[in-house]
Amino acid sequence: MPLIAIVEDEATIAEILSSYLAREGYDTLHLANGAEAEHWLRGVMPDLILLDLMLPGMDGLSICRSIRARSEVPIMMVTARVEEIDRLLGLELGADDYICKPFSPREVVARVKAVLRRVGGVPGGGAGHPGLVIDEAGMLARFQDARLDLTPTEFRLLQALARRAGRVMSRASLLDALGDRNEDVFDRSIDSHVKNLRRKLTAATGGAVVIASIYGVGYRLELGDRG
Ligand code: CA
Repeated sequence: MPLIAIVEDEATIAEILSSYLAREGYDTLHLANGAEAEHWLRGVMPDLILLDLMLPGMDGLSICRSIRARSEVPIMMVTARVEEIDRLLGLELGADDYICKPFSPREVVARVKAVLRRVGGVPGGGAGHPGLVIDEAGMLARFQDARLDLTPTEFRLLQALARRAGRVMSRASLLDALGDRNEDVFDRSIDSHVKNLRRKLTAATGGAVVIASIYGVGYRLELGDRG
């Protein structure tokens, strides 16, 4: 299930959002303090962040900037003032959507779905290519019934890239996606793991699924012919 982080200091609003999102099959996590949220989001990256603007500890703008410096995770900014939205847009924070309080929880859920669809965050971590199957439980990847021979690190890299297919992922967010901070994997060795994964993927898919390098930024999974 996709995990949605709700960074919101008003407990009632957070509870309402949690229950509506849970009803639609999302996992949620509530963080009430800005500084704690920023710290937590350095360790674990959810599939989407609902980020309130006015927070104790650290404000939503600073948190948004800090996250964007290292991740393309979808961010929906929540503000109590509609006139604030123009200013936020002008700041080019890189947020994916803006929501004004008071809001209808149904509307928020609809917009969460729309953003996740747009960024290719397929529920369940599907790969977005009909031929590519990523079996998270079995830690197996297949392309048109042929099993890809991947190391556990390569599998997890593929899983992370596939969840954000079409969008650039930084090395830092790929490291985060590896989760348990595998001691063998550092910034530079990420490159060699990606290189090996790319070679295997290109060979197995005949170029239908490729990993593009974005110079100085990171990597992007690209889906070619959807046949
Ligand atoms: Ca607030």
